[in-house]
Amino acid sequence: MTIFESVKSAVTPRMAAERYGLQVNCSGMTRCPFHNDRTPSMKLNEDYFYCFGCTSRGDAIDLTAKLFHLSAHNAAKKLASDFGVTDSKPSVLTTLQKGRTQAENERLCFRVLREYLKILEDWQAHYAPKSPGDEPDPRFTESCHMLECTKYMLEILTFSPAKERAELVTDMMKDDKITLLKERVLEIKGKENGRN
Ligand SMILES: [Zn+2]
Repeated sequence: MTIFESVKSAVTPRMAAERYGLQVNCSGMTRCPFHNDRTPSMKLNEDYFYCFGCTSRGDAIDLTAKLFHLSAHNAAKKLASDFGVTDSKPSVLTTLQKGRTQAENERLCFRVLREYLKILEDWQAHYAPKSPGDEPDPRFTESCHMLECTKYMLEILTFSPAKERAELVTDMMKDDKITLLKERVLEIKGKENGRN
């Protein structure tokens, strides 16, 4: 494999975007760094990005090259070094993900997100400020921030075609996000049980 192929198979445009400081929302959209973008118009897909505003497009290497004004080769080298990709070896991430099947990962994400949603709904119902002057409970604040996003992800896992589900699952598995959320859910449930 060439460095281009190795990098492209290990790093998605979204991974590069997040690594280099772009804020990516639930639906994989971000504010385009290549034009004066007020609302997110750039879609980060599994293998390419596309901006609905200025029509810039490409893969993770193109994105990195444009962001840092590098040649394609130097952008690939930067990605390889930032994500620990080598020419011959797949990335740590790929190796980790290969241990589990896509279907297993999907079930794991669904279970954890559903548990988290239940907690958020409970918090929303029980910890809302009683009067306008009250300092909001952090649990209520978290439920406001996360409820819609969590519902949206569960909807994707329930109703969307395989490709979209796979993108979401890949994102959730990245940096072990889903494991961290799972531990958090268990911790919260442990605390709430202790309280009752
Ligand atoms: Zn743009």
